Amino acid sequence: MPEKEKGGISVNTENIFPVIKKWLYSEKDIFLREIVSNATDAVTKLKRLQSLNEAETDEKPFRVDVRLDKTAGTVTVEDNGIGMTAEEVKKYICSIALSGAVDFIEKYESSGDDAAKSGIIGHFGLGFYSAFMVSDTVEVFTRSYTGAPAVHFTCTSDGDYEMEEDDRQGRGTEVVLHITDDERAYLDAGKLRGMLDKYCAFMPVEIYFDDGEEKKNDAPEKPVNDTAPLWQKPAADCTDEEYRAFYQKVFRDYREPLFQIHINADYPLNFKGILYFPRRANDYEPIDGQIKLYYNQVFVADDIKEIIPDYLLMLKGVLDCPDLPLNVSRSYLQTNTYVSKVSAHIVKKVADKLCSLCKNERERYEKVWGDIKTFVEYAAMRDEKFYDKVKEALLLRLTDGRCLTVDEYLEKAKEKHENKIYYATDPALQAQYIELYKAEGIDVVLFDSLLETQFTGVLETRREGLKCLSVDADVSALKGEGETAENAALCELFKAAAGNDKLTVKTDAFKDGSVPAVLNVSEEGRRMEDMMKMYRLSTGKDEESDPFAPEATLILNAASPLIGKIGGMIETDRPRAEKLAAHVYQLAVLAHRRFSAEEMQKFLGDSYSLLSELAD
Ligand code: ADP
Repeated sequence: MPEKEKGGISVNTENIFPVIKKWLYSEKDIFLREIVSNATDAVTKLKRLQSLNEAETDEKPFRVDVRLDKTAGTVTVEDNGIGMTAEEVKKYICSIALSGAVDFIEKYESSGDDAAKSGIIGHFGLGFYSAFMVSDTVEVFTRSYTGAPAVHFTCTSDGDYEMEEDDRQGRGTEVVLHITDDERAYLDAGKLRGMLDKYCAFMPVEIYFDDGEEKKNDAPEKPVNDTAPLWQKPAADCTDEEYRAFYQKVFRDYREPLFQIHINADYPLNFKGILYFPRRANDYEPIDGQIKLYYNQVFVADDIKEIIPDYLLMLKGVLDCPDLPLNVSRSYLQTNTYVSKVSAHIVKKVADKLCSLCKNERERYEKVWGDIKTFVEYAAMRDEKFYDKVKEALLLRLTDGRCLTVDEYLEKAKEKHENKIYYATDPALQAQYIELYKAEGIDVVLFDSLLETQFTGVLETRREGLKCLSVDADVSALKGEGETAENAALCELFKAAAGNDKLTVKTDAFKDGSVPAVLNVSEEGRRMEDMMKMYRLSTGKDEESDPFAPEATLILNAASPLIGKIGGMIETDRPRAEKLAAHVYQLAVLAHRRFSAEEMQKFLGDSYSLLSELAD
């Protein structure tokens, strides 16, 4: 090498640096990731050469040091890896593969796609130059493992460089960033620590941070990273405790996750990861999953929504995809077939996990079902393929708290009815109906969210012949044997007493005589009502103005002694029969839905006058 070599970084365009600075403005922090990951790469490369006996080994442990020097205004990253010869510095650092980058820049300059623009880093080997987002001068001191003379390379943000021999003895590379006045915020230990924690937490070589302060005690130094993250370990060797600790550390969530899915996908997908179903404190807590994407243990991004389907976005997890470029853009992810294959694989793994929990750890599965059912049902609604994969693991929670799969429910119900699921939406309001079904030995499922009542429709379309019926929609299961003669006089009495022209009144004999009358709304009418509820929720319209209240049928139970007595009274004491009929109707309404304000007033008034009569 001549005494001192000078040059300009060879680029086809005037100057790449202003462009880098401008474009990557929003992601300045990544400079540290780029420089530190170059350092860990240098160590990894040397290790590989050593394992092939192509480089000498020594006893010194591999490490990367990040040092802050506030007085000098520098941040330094040093490794004891492979190092570079003068030729290599020229080849790899001085002439970056810019022709491609320049084309790229020209293409995207007009597009306004910032995410795509930031993809130039990494794609074109510009990682080293990201240092110029925060520095005006970068110095490199490096000595190759080959023993070639060490090199001191200095480059300014104008693209001018100087290169000379150096007396560095140790193998490896030291990169010194002279931070610009504008970016002095980076000369802060807390900030750098935060960045190391975010980007370098799982890099494969031990990284030590020296904040430039005097050490107060002799505590042994501790690396800032974990070089062997749990996702790299075979699932069979990981304990629950390790999964929990890893989750709490990575997501800073003190709660225990519900369960996790450890993925180790071989060729051709070749990615690893751990996905957690997080625990929620309550139904109202926002569902904010988080997928952290890594590239060979180097953090890439943590808001990657493209890599898993949106219906699984409540998952929290880490994915290490060495086949994706280190700097991926949104648009790249959205259109990439590899990404869609990864996504499909994740869906399959999630479904497999749910099925295996249901099959092999039923008790645990039932316990977590309350937390996960909304997601699982929603996912099954959104994606038929997912439904097909998890259909055996869809649980129905009964009103008495037990859980059955759909198959188990139908199998058990066979004696009583074929291919029907009876459900309640409000166990307190519908207590009377639920009791009637219970007396018949029929299990009632609890679908107590609007999503679940929608889910009934999905179950019906995906399982041929299945019908989901609300307990107040179909009372045929409660009927006794034989036909009941229509009692026209009784029906007319109740219709008049109810004061509701639209009301249909019928007589039927139930097996159970304790309930004199029930209201019955068709399943279609009820679902229409649910849809209106959803509509009202989304538009904020109030309930009273609903013109679509479903038409109801009042079924008088001929087996009820009270109905018998009222029937017998029509001829002899019509006013009393009317009063009783009005009250029975009101009670049937009360057991079916909420009273309107008017109905409530009337019911209370009627009840008080009944009580006064009793008191006389
Ligand atoms: P990339 O890392 O994407 O290839 P960079 O601009 O970051 O692009 O680095 C260019 C090349 O310079 C690297 O591929 C590597 O060969 C070399 N290099 C950079 N930093 C180091 C280092 N610390 N030790 C050895 N070689 C390095």
